[in-house]
Amino acid sequence: MNHQALVDFICNKMSMSHIYQPLLIKALLESGGTSSIRQLAIAVLNMDEAQIAYYEDRIKKMPVPVLSKHEIIEKNGDFISLKYSTKNLEEKSEIKLLCEQKIHDFIRTRKGNEFWDRFTPEPIPGDVRYEVLKRANKRCELCKVSEGDSLYEERLPLHIDHIIPRSKGGSNDIENLQVLCRACNQGKGNRDSTDFRK
Ligand SMILES: [Zn+2]
Repeated sequence: MNHQALVDFICNKMSMSHIYQPLLIKALLESGGTSSIRQLAIAVLNMDEAQIAYYEDRIKKMPVPVLSKHEIIEKNGDFISLKYSTKNLEEKSEIKLLCEQKIHDFIRTRKGNEFWDRFTPEPIPGDVRYEVLKRANKRCELCKVSEGDSLYEERLPLHIDHIIPRSKGGSNDIENLQVLCRACNQGKGNRDSTDFRK
């Protein structure tokens, strides 16, 4: 394919439902023309605002408060700093190795498997999500708070909850899904399989 044909495809023929196509072409170009699927997936992940926002949220809620409490790190606005530094390469590599060992041990246990299942869930298809929200009148099925309810903003946003958790084999079937606000969802936790749709 020559340059003009590719330009023509990008400008006139590429019909987009997401950013994947231009992202893929750009990533392939940047990697010299060929890339593994995994490298491409990483390139996509780096551009996926929803995923990035999700991990930003996880980082802020999970490791940052705990590590701050132990005075390992400090948070300054959007910046996180390690309250430790060393010029000694041996010390540095020891810390890195210990962290890698901890990650490895964690993943090997059953708890680790559940953790990863929750971390990389198969997304609920858009039409299923829509049906579940419609069925619940876009309200939390436990406390009835609705999106845009400014009085109870701290309970939001609404989540699609798996009645039987994914880590226990719960599916994306519409019958296994219910709408819960953030607060009710947190209260419920991952171990509870209560169906609140009444
Ligand atoms: Zn609620």
